[in-house]
Amino acid sequence: MADTQSKRARNMPTGPSPFTPQEAAALAQEKFRDPLVTAKGEARAHVGLHRLETLWFNTGSLCNLACATCFMESSPTNDALVYLTAAEVARFMDEADADFDTREIGFTGGEPFMNPDFPAMLGDALDRGYDVLVLSNAMKPMRRHEAGLETLKAAHGNRLTIRISLDHYTQAAHEGERGANSWAPAIAGLRWLSDAGFSIAVAGRHLPHEDDAAARAGYADLFAQQDIRIDAADPARLVLFPEMDETKDVPEITTACWGILDVSPRSIMCSSSRMVVRRKGAQAAAVVACTLLPYDAAFEMGTTLAAANHTVSLNHPHCARFCVLGGASCS
Ligand code: SF4
Ligand code: SF4
Repeated sequence: MADTQSKRARNMPTGPSPFTPQEAAALAQEKFRDPLVTAKGEARAHVGLHRLETLWFNTGSLCNLACATCFMESSPTNDALVYLTAAEVARFMDEADADFDTREIGFTGGEPFMNPDFPAMLGDALDRGYDVLVLSNAMKPMRRHEAGLETLKAAHGNRLTIRISLDHYTQAAHEGERGANSWAPAIAGLRWLSDAGFSIAVAGRHLPHEDDAAARAGYADLFAQQDIRIDAADPARLVLFPEMDETKDVPEITTACWGILDVSPRSIMCSSSRMVVRRKGAQAAAVVACTLLPYDAAFEMGTTLAAANHTVSLNHPHCARFCVLGGASCS
């Protein structure tokens, strides 16, 4: 991922914007509206589902934390995405088993371990033979399931990976994002996973003044001090996301951008994954294009994986900011 990011950064258009700030603000309101055409009338980029390699489940938006810039706006009170049930997850995995060449099941939230059905859905995914990735903050909700996790590890080994969010390698920056007293329990949870021999990873971020190498060096020192078994140089084990300013204008992505930026549509998350969510008040769980757009109805694709097996138009600012230009991907 680090190589991809730096490659994209090198290929990003440079030089002064052709628009004054007022013109840019006016243009931004017109952007990302038409799924087929940009505000300038160019053909909008789109991404087909090449292979459903990873099927994500958003287990619910409730979280024990309320992080300052959580893109899910998760909190102890946000239940806009209600808890999925184990039966709903099983329905989608049945379809993946039968009709898709799916390799991996991902669970995200909110905090997945808060969902009362989570142990059942996790066990089901592993029993079916999938690789499983769980995104967690490693705090109390996860620690309540230590015995169950040990049992799953004994049965399935490294097919279960738990990825822990540590917003920075310093307590101050982590707690600046996640709140007071959030550092020590996260480190303790990560150490427990490491000591117990789980397959683990960390999701972190660069501060604006840090480059990838500086951030990896900082995490490497932390892992050494805490005796945590993660190679900070391995981009699969330490996944670093750049800090994004969501208030800044971004260009729209046209079909010509793939060649200009030297980015393949197949490198974009919605080419290889979908996510299942259940909205509060909805009759059924539904499939959305990716983990980054859980709330936008325009990116909801139906109530089966078959219905979601079609092309996604990149008409959301996240498509440009996070995926095509920023190179960040939750998976
Ligand atoms: S722990 Fe994760 S899901 Fe929960 S509020 Fe923080 S960023 Fe959002
Ligand atoms: S945000 Fe990224 S992964 Fe999601 S639909 Fe847009 S380009 Fe695809």
